[in-house]
This record gives sequence, structure tokens and C-alpha cells, in this order.
Amino acid sequence: MDFIKGFDRDQLIMMDFESNVALDSWARVVDWFVDVLPMEELGFSDVLNSEGRPPYKSEDLLKLFLYGYKKSLRSSYKLEEACKINLEVIWLLKGLRPSARKIAYFRKENSKAFKQSFRYFVLMLKEMDLISGETIAIDSFKIRAQNSLKNNFNQKKIDQHIDYIDNKLKDYEEALNSEEIPEIEKQEIIKKKKIQQERRKEYKQIEQELKESGESQISKTDVDARSVILHRNVVNVGYNIQAGCDIKHKLFINNSTGTVNDTHALAEMALDAKTLLKVDKMNTLTDKGYTTGVHIDTCSKNNITTYSSPKAHSSQNNGLYNMEVFEYNKEEDSYKCPAGLILHSSGVIYKKGNHKVKRYTTKQCEGCNLRSKCTTNKRGRIIERSIYQEAIEANQKRVEQNPEYYKLRQQITEHQFGTLKRQWGFTFTLMKGKENVLTEVNLMMMAYNLRRLMSIFDINTLKKRLKSLCLYFLAIISQNRRDLSNQKTISINSQVNNHQNLHRLKAA
Ligand code: SF4
Repeated sequence: MDFIKGFDRDQLIMMDFESNVALDSWARVVDWFVDVLPMEELGFSDVLNSEGRPPYKSEDLLKLFLYGYKKSLRSSYKLEEACKINLEVIWLLKGLRPSARKIAYFRKENSKAFKQSFRYFVLMLKEMDLISGETIAIDSFKIRAQNSLKNNFNQKKIDQHIDYIDNKLKDYEEALNSEEIPEIEKQEIIKKKKIQQERRKEYKQIEQELKESGESQISKTDVDARSVILHRNVVNVGYNIQAGCDIKHKLFINNSTGTVNDTHALAEMALDAKTLLKVDKMNTLTDKGYTTGVHIDTCSKNNITTYSSPKAHSSQNNGLYNMEVFEYNKEEDSYKCPAGLILHSSGVIYKKGNHKVKRYTTKQCEGCNLRSKCTTNKRGRIIERSIYQEAIEANQKRVEQNPEYYKLRQQITEHQFGTLKRQWGFTFTLMKGKENVLTEVNLMMMAYNLRRLMSIFDINTLKKRLKSLCLYFLAIISQNRRDLSNQKTISINSQVNNHQNLHRLKAA
């Protein structure tokens, strides 16, 4: 029977690497993109060789990382191997074979430059009119850290361990005092007792560290990692990655990793995006987790209009009168209850969890006929109003009046997360520490945005657009250098906003 056969291994073949890389391959796009970047201005430092050989160019290593992150090749060992066996990588790096150690060192030492590159890329995308900055959706996804659940402690966990050890020590003590146990077994028990005493000391040390940190939990391998709910009550130690995406082409704008949930992320992310994109006003779309009074208030004071899914008031669903039947009077700062009585506030602001509230009461609840429907509190009904209630209500009104607009939120963010996690395998980080983890996030988001460009433009247009931007940014950089020589400190961001340069280039 005849089969399709491969080539003869002993046959000599003439070939070039150029013809082995498709014209629309990811490697070529990465090559064009990195060639546009002003590496020095972005803060990249070249990897120096201790042996005295010249260093690798940071461009080459950045190309290697961008290529790898899209292809699920993230570890330095896999990247080192790819430099030897992957034809596209051999073409991209022109046969360079950096060691895994140098690859890892470059990533670790350039976290700020990776961040700056991603932000620079976002500005390029805005310049290409692919990011509008009118509406951004902010959402988060969780990734596992290089820290096992076993090496993450909170006070409850420490107490459980110490209780267990104390019980063990008690059993050992009883056994040692018993006359029924032979001497040879007692020697074994003494050894076990010493081990448990050492473990107890370690847990006490961790308890001390936890107290000194002022945090509710502590991780021993990656100190910045925290216990997070990955999905459906599955808890692991990891990071909660915040991501802002623009409405126009669903491109990533910014990122951050702060706390384990989204409660305190909205204002930081929204303000950062607005500053980066240099827009006067902006809308944000976020889910319920981000609905925090102080953040909505901060956004509205900074010309950012929030559309954040409203949270139900804590008084709802308990069978008693909910807040909607209480009428608020702004001028008098009081509430009118269903019995027609007025609830006043003493003006004192209380801290309740993460919220600041004022309390409203009336002394006439005691003899009220509606009391059984209104409150179970002995002192009568107490209404707690956030000091940011006005901003919260305005946000709620906007969401309720614009349901179709709010629905866009899911379309703008969630697809990207699926691509990063399911297709590109970004469900865990290889690095330790917030800054290094964000390096991985920045690489992932750069690769994602670049990949999106391949869908938006055909390959030849993409090449032309990237090259024209190169000229534009070169003009900015040369201006930047002139300004620096005049003793002025000018950031890349402020230079991007330099319309004079833009017009000069466009005219050219
Ligand atoms: S219990 Fe108090 S707050 Fe409630 S309806 Fe009666 S008077 Fe008003």
C-alpha cells in the first residue's frame, strides 16, 4: 500500500529561514512592532554578559517574550529551548540562543520597562484611532501565585495548627508519665515531642509576623500573594488582576493588582485610564463588586461617569419596610417614614466596615402601630445612609435608565479574559511579587492587543501603520531629547500629547 512519505533525511537541502516564516505569521508582527519601540526611552537595560562578551540587545529579548507569551511559552527554559528548535523563533532572533538564566534575568530586571512599553503601546493605539477613551469597562480575573495554600496563613489557620500541636503534646506528656509504656517507646515519643515543639515555635513566629504586618493573612513563598476565590468557592493563593478595556475595539488599556476583591479598585483604575489617555471625560462600566460609594463619588468629582451595577441595601429582603418607602429630604437632611414621622441624624459619621454612614432615628417608634412591619430593634428603626449616597443613587439611576448600554460591559471585557486564560494558559503566574506579576500581565496584554491588530487590519496595512507610527514617535523622541538637553524633564506621556509634533509628522 502506498503512503504519503517525508523527505529523505540524508538528502542535503538548501533553504533560508525567511521562506520558513509565513508572511502573516505572529513572529513577523512581533518583529515589526518591537522595531517601532524606542527601547532606551522605555527604560530597557541590556543583559550584560559576565564573561565579557557583548550583551544581547533588549529588542531581541523583548521579541522573544512577546512571541512566547502568545504561544504559551512563558518559562525561561521553554523560551531557551524555542531558540534552538522553533524555526520562527530562530528567524526572529536571527539564530541567537540566550540561556534560560539570561532570559529570566531580563524579565526580572525590566519590570518598569515592560509596564512603560504596554502604556506606550496603548498611546500608539490611541494615536492609530483604535482606542476612543469614551467608555472603558473594568473587570478582574484571578490567577494562581507561586505560593501553595499550605504556605498561606491567617489567624484562624494558625490557631487550628497550634491547637492540634497542643493536643498532640498533651498526649505525648500523658504517654511519658504512664508506667505501662516501655522505655524504648518513650524514647520515640520524646523525639516526636521535640518535632512538635519546633513546629509550634514556627507557627508562633508566623503569628508574630502576621501581627506585625497588620494584614489579615500572610504568604510565606510569595509575600504579596493572597488567598483568593478562583471560581465557585475554590480558594487558592493568587492575585486579583484588574483590567481596563476600551469600547471601540476591546483593547486593553491598563492593569493593576491590588486587593483580593474589586471593592477598592474602581477609582484607581478609572483615574489611571483617564490620565493615560488624556481625555477630559470618560464613562466606566463595572459590575456589582466595584460599587463602592467613595469610589463612585471620587470618579464623579473627576469627570468620570460610572455605570456600576447597584448593590441591594442591607435592609432589603428581611420582610420589613425597605428603604424605598422612606423619603429623603435633602434640604433638611432627614427621612420621612411610612407613619409620616421624621427621622433625624445627629450629624455624627460612623465607620461601618468599609463604609462611612450617618444614622437617622426618631424617638416615636415605641408607640408606632407599624413597628412590627418596620423594625425588630428595641430602640426603634435606625436608617444608615452612606455619606456618598447621592453619588450611589445617581449611579443606580444611570444603570437603570440605560440597560442596553450597561450590558455592553460583558462584551467589552470578558472575551479577553477567556483568551488569556483558556487559549494562552495564563491561569497562573511564574513570578513572585506584585511588580513581577504585573510584568507578566503587561506582556500578556501587549501580546493580546497586538494580536487584535492582526484581526482589525490586513497584514500589509498593519505593517504600514506600525511603520508610520515609528516616524511619529521618532519625532517625539528627538524633541524629547532636545528638551532634556534644555534641562527639562518631559515624560513620554506628555510628549505624546505634543500636538505640534503630530501636525509636523502628519504634514510630512
Ligand atoms: S417604627 Fe418608627 S420609623 Fe417605623 S414607621 Fe413607625 S415611627 Fe416610623
